[in-house]
Amino acid sequence: MKKTVKDYIRTIADFPHEGIMFRDVTTLFADARGFRMAVDQLLHPFAGQRIDKVVGLEARGFILGGAVAHQLATGFVPIRKKGKLPGAVISQAYKLEYGEAVMEIHDDALQPGEKVLIVDDLLATGGTCEAAIKLCERLGAEVVGCAFVVDLPELGGHRLLEQMGMNVHVLCE
Ligand code: IMP
Repeated sequence: MKKTVKDYIRTIADFPHEGIMFRDVTTLFADARGFRMAVDQLLHPFAGQRIDKVVGLEARGFILGGAVAHQLATGFVPIRKKGKLPGAVISQAYKLEYGEAVMEIHDDALQPGEKVLIVDDLLATGGTCEAAIKLCERLGAEVVGCAFVVDLPELGGHRLLEQMGMNVHVLCE
């Protein structure tokens, strides 16, 4: 039977903490057919639509977002954890299970009015992507979609992003 994207993803128990079932997409990236299928499916709803930049979220969103940007013939912009980008940045804090984290984007990476597609490997609570959307919008860009390989719907991120009016595209749950 033909394999789906989900078939290439493995689950590692108790990583990074006991009780967590970590969805590991490195096995998807390592397979020629699996990786190509994932990239094609991520961009499929957006092909033919105006997109100026693909924004990838650290770190696996760089691998996927870079490939999607190449295929859509757009530029690529990274959103990184605090302190990693070399130029002038704007920052956005967001909540983690315990405490807070900060994401950053170069303050000249997007121009007002640019249309942006956000790409990451996995959507859980949606906190990371919500921070990314805020960073893009603070630079005046318009987020036309958010694309993920894996959705964990019970963690509420999908609902949160839809409540923000986002077009959310996921390949599997
Ligand atoms: P959220 O902010 O709760 O939606 O978490 C999503 C972020 O955490 C993404 O950048 C993911 O890469 C990462 N993440 C959380 N859980 C997993 C997992 O099981 N596998 C891979 N990445 C994960």
